[in-house]
Amino acid sequence: MKKSDLIELQQEIDKANHIVFLTGAGVSTHSGIPDYRSKNGIYNGVQESPENILSESTLYNRPEFFYQFVMNNMYFPDAKPNLIHQKIAQICNQKGDLITQNIDCLDTKAGNKHVTEFHGNLYNIYCTKCHYSISYEKYSQNYIHQNCGGIIRPDIVLYGESIKPETLTKSVEIMQKSDLVIICGTSFVVYPFAQLLAYRNEKAKIFSINKTKIPASGIKQIIGDALDVFKILN
Ligand SMILES: [Zn+2]
Repeated sequence: MKKSDLIELQQEIDKANHIVFLTGAGVSTHSGIPDYRSKNGIYNGVQESPENILSESTLYNRPEFFYQFVMNNMYFPDAKPNLIHQKIAQICNQKGDLITQNIDCLDTKAGNKHVTEFHGNLYNIYCTKCHYSISYEKYSQNYIHQNCGGIIRPDIVLYGESIKPETLTKSVEIMQKSDLVIICGTSFVVYPFAQLLAYRNEKAKIFSINKTKIPASGIKQIIGDALDVFKILN
């Protein structure tokens, strides 16, 4: 991590008119939320990837397995926002937007009023049969809706499902009006999220803050832990 890069980032934040943050799992690991993409589930003694498990087909054909995986690996209802969520919230509430891949609600908990949850969130839960809204407390007891026998699911985008059109439209609008793009805590390989960069304002400056280099050209890459970077930023 070069000190001159951090100074430059701070200057760009100060002078930007509208900032967009594009964030991923690396922001929430400091709140004790592991990256579920690195987890595997066991079904019939066979290890399965999250891509397989978190699909519509598993939800309907093996609902119990889906439910166990989600409950054991994705829900952390007691997790608290960390300094990264807080500083991003502070900046967004002043002059920016956040588009996040995270589904943990920690940005909203941090008080951020400009959150677009690209992949939905775990705490919007509904019955797939009668579309009744279900609380997390109810879902944590059973995945079958007692009223109708339908399967309950979180309103997150599963592998193979499409991003909601209104979310895409809003995200593109945000990209176009922002003169500073800060990619943070994501390896930026999940599509169509990574595609958002194609919609940026042509005048926008772009930074990434991540432990590893991300596959994008023409951007300033700060390699390191996002928490160390945000501790320094004002
Ligand atoms: Zn129902």
